[in-house]
Amino acid sequence: MIKGKLALVTGSTSGIGLGIARTLAAQGANVLLNGFGDAGEIEQIRAGIAAEFGVVAEYDAADMTRPAEIEAMIARAEERHGAIDILVNNAGIQHVAPIDAFPTERWDAVIAINLSSSFHTIRCALPAMKKRNWGRIVNISSVHGLVASTEKVAYIAAKHGLIGLTKVVALETARTGITCNAICPGWVLTPLVQKQIDARAQKGGISDREAKDALLAEKQPSLDFATPEQIGALTVFLCSPGADQIRGTSLPIDGGWTAQ
Ligand code: NAD
Repeated sequence: MIKGKLALVTGSTSGIGLGIARTLAAQGANVLLNGFGDAGEIEQIRAGIAAEFGVVAEYDAADMTRPAEIEAMIARAEERHGAIDILVNNAGIQHVAPIDAFPTERWDAVIAINLSSSFHTIRCALPAMKKRNWGRIVNISSVHGLVASTEKVAYIAAKHGLIGLTKVVALETARTGITCNAICPGWVLTPLVQKQIDARAQKGGISDREAKDALLAEKQPSLDFATPEQIGALTVFLCSPGADQIRGTSLPIDGGWTAQ
């Protein structure tokens, strides 16, 4: 079912998005990569996926804070491929500070990238999905879309919002071949989380390993990180016929975090 379909994964030059893009490509999906980074490294990633999995791999540099760039990226992709069959809204950033010290510019950026960009990608990609009466929309929310922690007000507001967005899209497409679901990862060891580990190590004067262990012990009962490939595997399942009636859900991959 996935073979030959076009998957756009936003924020796929790194971390979870890259893991999802690689896992979809391994199943034969053509992938449209997106995200920031060094141009040479991104080209290596793109060419590497095309060569390793024998799929079409493309890259678009659209900035997820800019609705006009999102619209243009999707229009270009539809010109080449007809539709985006699989849309994975993954691009995200974090900022950690208490609310009364939270820079308003960071609030705006987190909401734009972690929430509003999904509104824009979905509203732009949906009409062509509807024409084919098939589509899969997977929103990468977080355990922080289900429960809160301190000092992440913008991120947590955005991730809860993304779950609301997921439910509305699922209801509006309920009688079509298009499904929309959210995945809610716990800690996954990516550059986004490594920054928080570095801050913890520096603040506590502890080693990287000690900071990782402390981070996990605080929230994630398995005491182990989830991996980008595991998030990719659930995305692949959500794209399969077995998941046709999974609609509007928020599925944790969190080592037990939200069971507590
Ligand atoms: P990451 O920093 O490794 O990757 C983020 C990606 O988003 C990169 O490709 C980056 O270039 C891209 N990006 C950032 N700003 C962008 C913009 N304005 N326009 C386009 N692309 C942009 O982070 P990650 O940990 O892989 O996070 C991916 C997603 O998973 C995020 O939505 C994050 O909130 C979510 N998530 C991560 C964890 C975790 O533990 N790592 C847990 C739960 C949810």
